[in-house]
Amino acid sequence: MVQKPEETVWIGLEYFCNENDEYWNMTEEEFVKFATEELIKIGIIEEDDILDSHQEKVKKAYPAYFDTYSQIDKLVEYLNSFENLYCIGRNGQHRYNNMDHSMATAIEATKNIKQGIKSKENIWKVNTEKSYHETKHK
Ligand SMILES: Cc1cc2nc3c(=O)[nH]c(=O)nc-3n(C[C@H](O)[C@H](O)[C@H](O)COP(=O)(O)OP(=O)(O)OC[C@H]3O[C@@H](n4cnc5c(N)ncnc54)[C@H](O)[C@@H]3O)c2cc1C
Repeated sequence: MVQKPEETVWIGLEYFCNENDEYWNMTEEEFVKFATEELIKIGIIEEDDILDSHQEKVKKAYPAYFDTYSQIDKLVEYLNSFENLYCIGRNGQHRYNNMDHSMATAIEATKNIKQGIKSKENIWKVNTEKSYHETKHK
């Protein structure tokens, strides 16, 4: 996605903030300046190195576990009552799944469909057991 890949590179920076906090409310210009200063400070770039920049603000990027989250089991039970509905991925399960977990939920769902398994238990179990937490296989 860069014109001259041998000479240039995109660097992605991720900043965590809350809607309407001081970081959220910065203009793109202010934020780029702030991020540039950080990159210079830690020795990644020099100011003249920057050719282009882009900022993307993503609301509600993370599944949050508060308010009625404690009643998620009730919701799961209700959702499971729809036989042909498979809740997979991060937002599909409102769970702090990483990419691997999200794909694992899809793999489990596909397995169930192919094998005619009606229970959704294995799909909802992804990322709740220790064995799913980035296990190192020999
Ligand atoms: C800031 C951030 C950093 C992350 N870093 C990492 C990381 O380093 N490593 C890692 O493993 N995971 C990381 N994750 C988590 C990872 O991105 C998710 O686990 C994964 O992308 C979830 O996959 P998904 O298919 O469930 O959902 P998504 O990837 O969110 O895909 C859902 C898609 O559905 C589309 N969509 C939504 N509503 C509709 C609609 N009504 N109609 C049609 N399309 C719709 C969306 O546009 C989107 O393309 C990060 C997440 C965030 C937010």
